[in-house]
Amino acid sequence: MSVASVARIAFISSDVVVDSQPSLPATSPFAETYQDISRRGVHDATLVNVPFGADPGSTLLRNRSSRLQSYTTTSSPSLLNRLILHLSELASSPLVLHIAVEDDLSDVLVLRSIVPFFLYSRNAQEAHDHALLASRLSLTEGKVVLHAFKITDSPHSEVSDDVVRTFLSVEKLSKVDGLNGHANGHSHEEDPLLAAYESALLSTVSLLRRPLHPLSHHGSAGGHIAIFVLGSVPPLDIDGVSFVHLSLLSPLPAKAILSSISPSVTRILLVEQLRQWQIKWTPVYLDLLSILQHSSEVQRPTLHSCFVGNGDSVTAVDVLKLVQEAASTSPSKRLTLGHSDDVLAISAPRPHVPKHESAYIKLLNQLFGDRLEISNSPSLVSSEGALATSPEFAIGRVRGDIEARLELVAAIGDLLADLNITSELHSLLSQWLAVKDDPAKGPKLGDEIVTLIQSDHVFKGAAARIVALRSYFATQSRWIIGSDAWSYDVGASGLHHAIASCLNVNILVLDTIPYSSRNTVDATRRKQDVGLYAMNHGDVYVASVAVYSSYSQVLQALVEADRFEGPSVVLAYLPYLTDDAPALEVLKETKLAVDAGYWPLYRWNPSKEREGKDPFVLDSDMIKNELQRFLDRQNHLSQLVRSQPQLATELVSSLGDTLKEARRRRAQEAYAELLTAIDAPPLKVLFASDAGGAEKVARRLALRGKLRGLSTDAAPMDSITLDELAKEQFVVFVTSVAGQGEFPQNGRTLYKALNASVARGEKPLAQVQFSVFGMGDSHYWPRPEDAHYYNKSGKDLNARLEQVGAQRIVDLGLGNDQDADGPETGYKAWEPLIWKALGVDAVELTEAEPEPITNEHIKVASQYLRGTIKEGLEDSSTAALAPSDTQLTKFHGIYQQDDRDIRDERQAQGVEPAYSFMIRVRMPGGVCTPKQWLLINQIADEHGNGTFKITTRQTFQFHGVIKRHLKSAIQDINRALLDTLAACGDVNRNVIVSAIPTLSKTHAQAYAFAKRVSEHLLPRTSAYHEIWLDKKLVAGDAVHDVEPLYGEFYLPRKFKVAVVVPPNNDVDVFANDLGFIAIVDESGDLVGFNVTAGGGMGVTHGNKKTYPRLGSILGFCSVDQAIDIAEKVVLVQRDNGNRADRKNARLKYTIDRMGLDEFKTEVERRLGYTFQPERPYTFDRNIDDFGWHIGTDGKHHFTCFIENGRIQDEPGSNFKTGLKELATALKDGKGNFRMTANQHLLVTDIDTEDLPVVKSLLAKYKLDNLSQSALRLSSSACVAFPTCGLAMAESERYLPILVDKVEKICEKNGLRNDSIVMRMTGCPNGCARPYVAEIAFVGKAPGAYAMLLGGGYYGQRLNKIYRDSVTEPEILAILEPMIKHYATARFEGEHFGDFVVRVGYISATAEGKDWWDRVGGEGEWKEDGITA
Ligand code: SF4
Repeated sequence: MSVASVARIAFISSDVVVDSQPSLPATSPFAETYQDISRRGVHDATLVNVPFGADPGSTLLRNRSSRLQSYTTTSSPSLLNRLILHLSELASSPLVLHIAVEDDLSDVLVLRSIVPFFLYSRNAQEAHDHALLASRLSLTEGKVVLHAFKITDSPHSEVSDDVVRTFLSVEKLSKVDGLNGHANGHSHEEDPLLAAYESALLSTVSLLRRPLHPLSHHGSAGGHIAIFVLGSVPPLDIDGVSFVHLSLLSPLPAKAILSSISPSVTRILLVEQLRQWQIKWTPVYLDLLSILQHSSEVQRPTLHSCFVGNGDSVTAVDVLKLVQEAASTSPSKRLTLGHSDDVLAISAPRPHVPKHESAYIKLLNQLFGDRLEISNSPSLVSSEGALATSPEFAIGRVRGDIEARLELVAAIGDLLADLNITSELHSLLSQWLAVKDDPAKGPKLGDEIVTLIQSDHVFKGAAARIVALRSYFATQSRWIIGSDAWSYDVGASGLHHAIASCLNVNILVLDTIPYSSRNTVDATRRKQDVGLYAMNHGDVYVASVAVYSSYSQVLQALVEADRFEGPSVVLAYLPYLTDDAPALEVLKETKLAVDAGYWPLYRWNPSKEREGKDPFVLDSDMIKNELQRFLDRQNHLSQLVRSQPQLATELVSSLGDTLKEARRRRAQEAYAELLTAIDAPPLKVLFASDAGGAEKVARRLALRGKLRGLSTDAAPMDSITLDELAKEQFVVFVTSVAGQGEFPQNGRTLYKALNASVARGEKPLAQVQFSVFGMGDSHYWPRPEDAHYYNKSGKDLNARLEQVGAQRIVDLGLGNDQDADGPETGYKAWEPLIWKALGVDAVELTEAEPEPITNEHIKVASQYLRGTIKEGLEDSSTAALAPSDTQLTKFHGIYQQDDRDIRDERQAQGVEPAYSFMIRVRMPGGVCTPKQWLLINQIADEHGNGTFKITTRQTFQFHGVIKRHLKSAIQDINRALLDTLAACGDVNRNVIVSAIPTLSKTHAQAYAFAKRVSEHLLPRTSAYHEIWLDKKLVAGDAVHDVEPLYGEFYLPRKFKVAVVVPPNNDVDVFANDLGFIAIVDESGDLVGFNVTAGGGMGVTHGNKKTYPRLGSILGFCSVDQAIDIAEKVVLVQRDNGNRADRKNARLKYTIDRMGLDEFKTEVERRLGYTFQPERPYTFDRNIDDFGWHIGTDGKHHFTCFIENGRIQDEPGSNFKTGLKELATALKDGKGNFRMTANQHLLVTDIDTEDLPVVKSLLAKYKLDNLSQSALRLSSSACVAFPTCGLAMAESERYLPILVDKVEKICEKNGLRNDSIVMRMTGCPNGCARPYVAEIAFVGKAPGAYAMLLGGGYYGQRLNKIYRDSVTEPEILAILEPMIKHYATARFEGEHFGDFVVRVGYISATAEGKDWWDRVGGEGEWKEDGITA
């Protein structure tokens, strides 16, 4: 066989043989021969095996031989392309590359131009003979000879081992002088390489005594066609056709070629055995063309390029067809001999890297920079073939690299031992050994070493090895990246080899199956837990991460994996089904998976065990409560727990307490039920309610039932199963409606069960008698085509119940927000029918109906905001607080929330929502020191979700703080000399102040005033200190607390104060309950304020009793009077605000109800003096002044753009880390931070000498990037999903995506730099002040928004509803022509909000009370169906 024959000669002729290993399970075809020869003791060569995927070039360089080195391999694009890099360095070495080829010379031909000699053997005899020739040639010339040979077992004869040895012994290596010195008699004075070949050829032929030619021909002489063949095509006899087989491809024997072409030949066909050639022409074709060009013949034959795939199957007919085709085709067209399917002249496709996956690649790049080596990067495919992405390939590469580095270290040791080297070189070598793993110092010293060696021309021995290995001076972070497909067969995927290799390599396995598709994707195949598999290997670092769940944990895991000495496996979750899956989907799926325990976050670091530490860290907090379910599902962690029994004990025992407590409660409830059910007919009241309205109605109904002697209770619909429901006798349902007719969240499961029952045609509720009351808003979706959404859930439920056999006792009742008395109008008519149907309508009520519990009751009963918060914090059976306490914690700056992305999922699992808390800091004017910033940053990491947000009230808020972290978080905030008291609740909230970077003096005065207002309006209760800071009560009892300003009822609703410094209305002063417009004298000193009152944003969709309102100016006051005025305005509101209806309780409604004049008179009466007349002022904008500014005090201030205020690290923009570094640099009094009410951030008070440091840090983290469009710079969004309980649609997560699209429209119309104020909120509460924006979107249902237009550019005019419900395509369809119209028809300097009013898209809103008038556009832009 040709391979064995070549292997024998290679081994005997060489003192070093390097053999490349194919991918497992295959073994090298040369290996058997090598072992055989070694066993026989025929020759003692050093055999070096190169792992599959490793770079053979560097191995050849490291193992250079002074005599002859041979390299053997089968043709593989990955290997050969890697060889290219080193061949120029090896060109002058005695080296023979024997490359076995099946039937495609594409890869091997790529090397032709780099090697001086290239031989091709098409059968076993040639292979044997050329192997001898190649060795002889390389030995005599000291140059590389490439010998490509066909893998074949054609018959041949061989010379003996001894003959080979003798033929190639040094003594016999004189060049032979033949005929004129050359085998064929031609003179080659002009080509020494050819001469050298001829010489070696002659020696070989003399030995073998059989012909061996650079080219051989057969076929008919005198014909018109000559076919030159490179490859294996059987000898065919065809009239008029001569064949020339090429064996010497480099140097190409020009004269021999020309003389082989008979003068009668008019057409030459060059047939090359190439299947996957990637460029148009082949090098042999071009060389042949050149040879023909230089021929002296007048009539030069035409040259055609042809490919052949399977040459052995070519027949005479194929050849004739080819000849015919050539005759009728232009020579520029490539032809195919034989089956064209055999030839795929295309490039190897480069695998597509899905865009989501780049998130992890970016992280790796970010962490390891130049050190990063992705050993199976898809980018290698184009150069190294499809196998380049396989783990075997990668592990081979890594192994080769590691060996090369070890070799470098050894060479450095050898050189250090050399007494002849200079002291400078000695010192550098020693230094490198000391810091070789330092990513910065190692490569730098390496460069210096190489430069020194090269300058000294010390190029022998160890020095030469060092230079050859110079690319290994830097320590690499080596990563192999794989897909979850590897998890289906860990053993066979190559992953096993990587894990078991003990090499210092990191493996990142991406799992992309979305949680919700986990049962449908690859349902027939079972995934293995790669993490557990790896952990069972012992010394392997394992981490399970999810970039969209915990960014910092991913960073931690990647760094730990890199540092771990040995294999590391990082399992990374990235759920998506298609490449264009929106990021939001990925985010939600990640949350579901992490929260449900499907994808736990953990890190397993065996090196910690050696240090006596716990090797296992569970990073997903929320999972602990759900462990039991988690174990049942046999997911990742359940198996993990089995391997760590103490973990199971710890977690399951805490779960046990929870279960015991839950069982105890359930038993108590059952007992109470038993007692009440003894002598009265039962009535079950079930509700489905998102916002609490339907729940209130249901609970009131149950209460009234009890008063009539019925055994009633009210519960969410989903608290009961269909089977349990079937056992009830009388059931009344009260349901509201969510989004576009969907069922409220806590009724969906039962509703689905009803639907399923209907689908199966079952009638399980035959014994149940029922009635339904639905609550909705007939104008929520005002378009006629949307009318069916009105009360849809109530109507659907009413129908389903009947379909499953239940008997209706009272017809469906409908409550409509639009009725005079709201839903009560319909309810009042429906409720009596229920009592009548149950026969208790005539029951005389002896007890007064208890008043429903409202916020006012909760406040007054709270003992000055204490409630049972303290007890609730200690209750470990739930992650939530009592509902009444959640109203009170708002006064302490704390909102209970739950992760709405996973609400459904948790409900399906039967567990409580994923409760956590939002904490808002009180920080008047949004000013904080760098030290405070650092603490805030730390608190977010230690207690929250690792991010924090700058809010529209110029402060920070943290999300995701779980109950057991609440107290320590507040205490840490307190340690930062900040608090959260009154950041929310029915009190004055954080006082906001214009950020004004330029007017330093005025800012200082306005800020000082804001702090005084904030302090003055602060609640005086000691509950905050008692609950959160463990401070004892001053007088020993809560009742001794007094609230001189608020009283025990506090205010009817929230209260907001803003201080603004014209001309920038960046705080939207008119959107606040109370506003102070600073009036300054010529020297910039504050002299007083124009006072505004009655601004407010909150609205309820469709409820025309609610509206946004701008503050009205009451008049001017001096600075000294202002605090007093603030207090009196608060008092008037406290005493006159509507406490019966929270929707109508803000100061704006109080003022409109009282009348502005009467309100002002009342304030003045309490003041004892009147307001002075309003002073002139001018506003010109309400957006931030981005970039650098110098204040009047000479200090420098920079306003950064922080999109929607979120401080977090993201791939490509590590703002959180950057700001932390900036705060560290400034912490010794070198600057401050200042939030803006537009959710951006100022770095302030920078001295000129500190500017370079600040600027470089801003630049390093791209915080100085202000290249965004003016639209983006002017946009803002509230938080909304997933944390805000009121959100009806996305906001913070969606607005940036919408801006991407709208800014394209702006750019197309030349408006990239024209600011349009665009805001979005997830509900009509209006936290991002949408009602003064030029364009606003207010969430109505997922993906649906009310669209508003026409707000004033500097917050001076309210906008108005333009479209009641729009989706993204509609938004873009509306804005595209409108923005174009604006670009072409606006007046000079006219803002968008003014334009849409002027040209009539929308009418101007003169005051809050007319906000609902003329909604829906004007004239041609009027939308049909929108209700005024
Ligand atoms: S506007 Fe609504 S959705 Fe947005 S944060 Fe405020 S309450 Fe939540």
